[in-house]
Amino acid sequence: MNPTDTDQHRLEQVQSQLADALSAAGRDPDSCSLIVVSKTQSAARLAPLVQGQALALGENYLSEALEKIETLGPGCQWHYIGAIQSNKTADIAAHFDWVHTLDRAKIAQRLNDQRPAQMAPLKVLIQVNIDDEPQKAGCRIDQLADLADTIAAYPRLQLKGLMSIPKPNPQDPARAHQRLAQCLHDLQDRHFGMTELSMGMSGDMREAVAAGATQVRIGTAIFGPRPTKETL
Ligand SMILES: *Cc1c(COP(=O)(O)O)cnc(C)c1O
Repeated sequence: MNPTDTDQHRLEQVQSQLADALSAAGRDPDSCSLIVVSKTQSAARLAPLVQGQALALGENYLSEALEKIETLGPGCQWHYIGAIQSNKTADIAAHFDWVHTLDRAKIAQRLNDQRPAQMAPLKVLIQVNIDDEPQKAGCRIDQLADLADTIAAYPRLQLKGLMSIPKPNPQDPARAHQRLAQCLHDLQDRHFGMTELSMGMSGDMREAVAAGATQVRIGTAIFGPRPTKETL
């Protein structure tokens, strides 16, 4: 295989694009971490990537994620970034380090109750429906403060910040990111432990970093286009 066409090479390219974006924004090189979105990628494909370095991996589909966690092990940090149904919370609470997609009180309660006692509190982000799209998951902006208060009261959850998946906006890709940053800012008076902004994907990483992202979630730029779910 051409050495410039490997996952490792593209991962390094994305890492250096992230470093460039941070530098262009006048930010500290360590102030934004890369979540490698590994949904639909096999454990065999991921194994060489995680051998040399401790990666943060983002997964959307629970059963394939559990297999990879079992195979690739605790050397990686595991981030759950998919939709959460109630019947999935026990496995999410028992196997992940971070959850990015918490958007309602009922799920917060279940994750809190089901987080195993011997594990550290589960780090959670509230997913915000930043463009107020009716079909999309995420807490509405006007309900954010209440949900943050509810989550902050749970001892087995650690409320770390906000996450969003904005509507594509080629004219002004920074706008939704700036709005999420403002939401975080508004919450920080009451919740000073909220410091994280999970925003930015393969198509808008640079804009997200400029707006203050502390975690970017990148799949396609590393692995290429994913198979559609139907062909899995
Ligand atoms: C799939 C996915 C990503 C990665 O998107 P790319 O465009 O492939 O980088 C990021 N965040 C979430 C929530 C996703 O589901």
